[in-house]
Amino acid sequence: MSTQTASSPISKDETHAASHQFELLRRTLRGTLVMPRDPDYDEARRVWNGTVDKRPAMVIYCADADDVVAAVRFARSIDSRVAVRSGGHNVAGLSVCDAGIVIDLSRMKRIDVDADRRFVRAEAGLKLGEFDRATMAHGLATTTGVISDTGLAGLTLGGGFGKLGRKYGLTCDNLVAVEIVTADGQKLLASDSKHADLFWAVRGGGGNFGIATAFHLRLHPLDPELLVCSLLYPFEQARAALRFYDRFARNAPDEVSADAAFVTDPSGARFFSISACYIGAPKSGRQVLEPLMESGSPVDCRVERVPYLQIQSNGDGVFPRGRRYYWKAQFLKAIDDGAIDAVLSGYQSSPSPSSLLVFQQVGGAIARVSGSATAYPHRDASFDCFPVAIWDDAAEDAVNVQWARDIWEALRPYSSGGVYANNLGDEGGERVKEAYGGNYSRLAFVKRQYDPDNFFRMNQNIAPA
Ligand SMILES: Cc1cc2nc3c(=O)[nH]c(=O)nc-3n(C[C@H](O)[C@H](O)[C@H](O)COP(=O)(O)OP(=O)(O)OC[C@H]3O[C@@H](n4cnc5c(N)ncnc54)[C@H](O)[C@@H]3O)c2cc1C
Repeated sequence: MSTQTASSPISKDETHAASHQFELLRRTLRGTLVMPRDPDYDEARRVWNGTVDKRPAMVIYCADADDVVAAVRFARSIDSRVAVRSGGHNVAGLSVCDAGIVIDLSRMKRIDVDADRRFVRAEAGLKLGEFDRATMAHGLATTTGVISDTGLAGLTLGGGFGKLGRKYGLTCDNLVAVEIVTADGQKLLASDSKHADLFWAVRGGGGNFGIATAFHLRLHPLDPELLVCSLLYPFEQARAALRFYDRFARNAPDEVSADAAFVTDPSGARFFSISACYIGAPKSGRQVLEPLMESGSPVDCRVERVPYLQIQSNGDGVFPRGRRYYWKAQFLKAIDDGAIDAVLSGYQSSPSPSSLLVFQQVGGAIARVSGSATAYPHRDASFDCFPVAIWDDAAEDAVNVQWARDIWEALRPYSSGGVYANNLGDEGGERVKEAYGGNYSRLAFVKRQYDPDNFFRMNQNIAPA
């Protein structure tokens, strides 16, 4: 058996015990095991971010929650490091590890929509596109992110921003209950009335408290098509457009979700783009979105009805699996002149034409939930802003990473503080504390209760209090 533990070298007795445990796992598992000798090992160890190149001792593809329990018990019995993977989409690559076990839920994709009760039970392996398609088949949706290949699990556990967020809150605000396997291998259902402390912690505290196997989420009626206003400005007009975007977005009603980005076309020309959609009747949407058309002289400008499922996958082509990615995020309450100077000069020096600089609008219903009501604390931000470095050649890693870090530093004085845990890379313990803000110490107490040994530590880690 090629299982290695995190604490090698291992004695003969330990090897014998590990082999026995491994045989037990093999006999009980309904899913599949992939070992380094298997032909599909390289595929099994791959995650979305091409900079991540880890070699786990095994990947356990779970078929159901009992498999997750078996995997947790096996990993504990041999004292192995564990990474938990659902969508494998995290920029920090935390869902795979060297020499330990990857517990993979990506094949657990059952989804049951109760259209009458506007409710869904969704297993943790679903991608956002799969989830959105299943709920929209009933004319229902809840907040999910903007790239359809992202995993529902990691997104929900960290918070969950998306086009519906300003109207209906974060994904985790729509969570009614979660099915979870804890560090001691127990299956629990956590909600406001059962294991309420755990339920509070998983709504923003990430994978620190157990392995979520299914999410119970509230749904909302949604038209299959929404009104979208898209604008593309030449870089020379970006300063004025960004000022206008800031004012428009901060004064917009909850029905509007307006994101913006600096982009570069294949010829190397740089642009600033705004995409605003209206969550409601198109007629009312026109009145709200049309003022956007009056700003500056965009090279492209349209207001049109776009299928929601298309809006939710429009950016997929920009973020394919396997390219090299790095980003560093922070929140802004407003985009003031100093911030505009920082992004304009920073974006111009991008070493890769694929790189972007993104503003994702938050606020609205997200801001009306108290910062201590769930583990997600950054309720008062208006924008999540992050340079996204995208490139292909490993020899260019350093220059691209530095580019994103430099913009982040230049923007830092204008930040409202904090960072979205789901957009955090490998940035150190102090930044992790900033991600959980004033909720950190309560999270550390919940961690002590449910995972005192810090078994789940391949995440934006909260040390048990
Ligand atoms: C291109 C791109 C676009 C994005 N867009 C958005 C967006 O619009 N809105 C938004 O909010 N976020 C967005 N994100 C961030 C996204 O929410 C995180 O990357 C999230 O972690 C992805 O979830 P995953 O299941 O794919 O993660 P994975 O890489 O599988 O895991 C990420 C972390 O969650 C833990 N984890 C995974 N599954 C479980 C589980 N079942 N139980 C317990 N812990 C688990 C892992 O151990 C790891 O620490 C985006 C990310 C990318 C790369």
